[in-house]
Amino acid sequence: MRADPPASHFVAGRPLEDPAGAAIAVTDPFSEREIARVHEATPAVLEAALAAARAAQPDWAGRRPVERGRILLRAAALIRERGEELARLETLDTGKPIAETRVADWPSGADALEYFGGLAAGLGGETIPLGRDFAYTRLEPLGLCVGIGAWNYPSQIACWKAAPALACGNAMVFKPAELTPLGALRLAAILTEAGLPEGLFSVVQGGPATGAALVRDGRVNKVSLTGSVATGRRVYAAAAEGIKSATMELGGKSPLIVCADADLDDAAGAALVANFYSAGQVCSNGTRVFVAEEVAEAFLGRLAARTRALRLGDPFAEATQIGPLISAPQRARVLAHIARARAEGARLVAGGGPGDFACGHFVLPTILAGVRDDMALAREEVFGPVMAVLTFRDEAEVVARANALAFGLAAGVFTRDLARAHRLVAALEAGTVWINAYNLTPVEMPFGGVGLSGIGRENGRAAIQHYSRVKAVYVGRGAVDAPY
Ligand code: NAD
Repeated sequence: MRADPPASHFVAGRPLEDPAGAAIAVTDPFSEREIARVHEATPAVLEAALAAARAAQPDWAGRRPVERGRILLRAAALIRERGEELARLETLDTGKPIAETRVADWPSGADALEYFGGLAAGLGGETIPLGRDFAYTRLEPLGLCVGIGAWNYPSQIACWKAAPALACGNAMVFKPAELTPLGALRLAAILTEAGLPEGLFSVVQGGPATGAALVRDGRVNKVSLTGSVATGRRVYAAAAEGIKSATMELGGKSPLIVCADADLDDAAGAALVANFYSAGQVCSNGTRVFVAEEVAEAFLGRLAARTRALRLGDPFAEATQIGPLISAPQRARVLAHIARARAEGARLVAGGGPGDFACGHFVLPTILAGVRDDMALAREEVFGPVMAVLTFRDEAEVVARANALAFGLAAGVFTRDLARAHRLVAALEAGTVWINAYNLTPVEMPFGGVGLSGIGRENGRAAIQHYSRVKAVYVGRGAVDAPY
């Protein structure tokens, strides 16, 4: 099956091709066959996208916010109408099961367009009384924003960045990850169909060099990256060079704490979702599962039984729960992590290998118990279906161990004790903490990391301040009191 887009890029309201750019072969992670071919953006394509964005942005910023919101809402409706077709494209591009992409990826993107489309009309500043005089603030767009995406949630990431950027009156040039270039192109076409003026959301293809060229450009005011910590360091440094605003959504090694009084069935369900959804390729995954010593065996028993029942296979099969990883190198990295953990003394409870599949970059959902904090598995992001189970004795100990890493994307707490839950929430160093839940990221709730996991927030009202700036206006209403 092929899924070639009309052209590699979408610039100034229409598909744009420049075959002079190096070819990027796009493969289906299940069949391992080429499904599309796009070309890396040439300097001419980047120039066209940046110039179109600059030209279009002032008029967009000057429109009534309710008008901007209406276009985003229309785009969300188009996405929902075409939900099945878009889910199939996402599954082809990422290898994620259709059962997931129907409910998670584009639907969450549509949520973002609806949320920020609705919020747009209510955006504004404040009035500050100063006696005779007064001041007011204006919420102004930043201008030209660059969005750079990861491959694990390509369409959701594009929507999560485009929606607040556009709602606030900015233009955005978006570069998807080179492994998954297709979804963002569809978003650009849908936004245009919904009435977005040309130039306000362009998509250009390419790898790190293309991303770096965009970040460096003097016309760019803000960079929003979703990617690894290593990339975040480079992009943040490049943005700093031009004193540009930056949002960094990076990796993690998030703790999920299961207390002795937790509902163990619920906690096991959450631990499975927190490690195996999207074949474990989720930034906020709870990959360090800390379970209270006294319930560890009972908990592991539940995990093992439910893991054995998971259905892996063709992502387009309705019954499939877990698909392949994104690429062969990613699978090799994940398998190496498993081998190293076992060599360091971790005990294999489930999975542990590539399984027996005719095609596809599969790794069996893997549970390793007896993991110690000093093992690489407990310190490094794996980005695959690998759960590390560690045990703990008391609350102070588990908090210290959970906080010991420099990451801080998310955390989870399972307990029936209300006071303990909120005590742990306050103590955990993370951008998001779930109580008796895991990995739910509704658009209404801010999302982002602390420490090496990033800066800035996506989603929720919090995202607005990362796509706009405050201008303070002092209004004098009397004679100027000059002492000179
Ligand atoms: P990556 O860091 O390799 O690439 C991310 C994007 O950055 C790609 O589009 C890539 O082309 C681009 N890029 C790479 N180097 C660049 C440079 N020097 N300048 C500009 N752009 C550059 O990440 P990935 O492998 O695509 O995605 C997996 C990582 O993303 C994981 O670490 C995961 O935790 C993280 N992630 C984080 C979130 C979040 O919201 N916090 C969400 C999804 C994924």
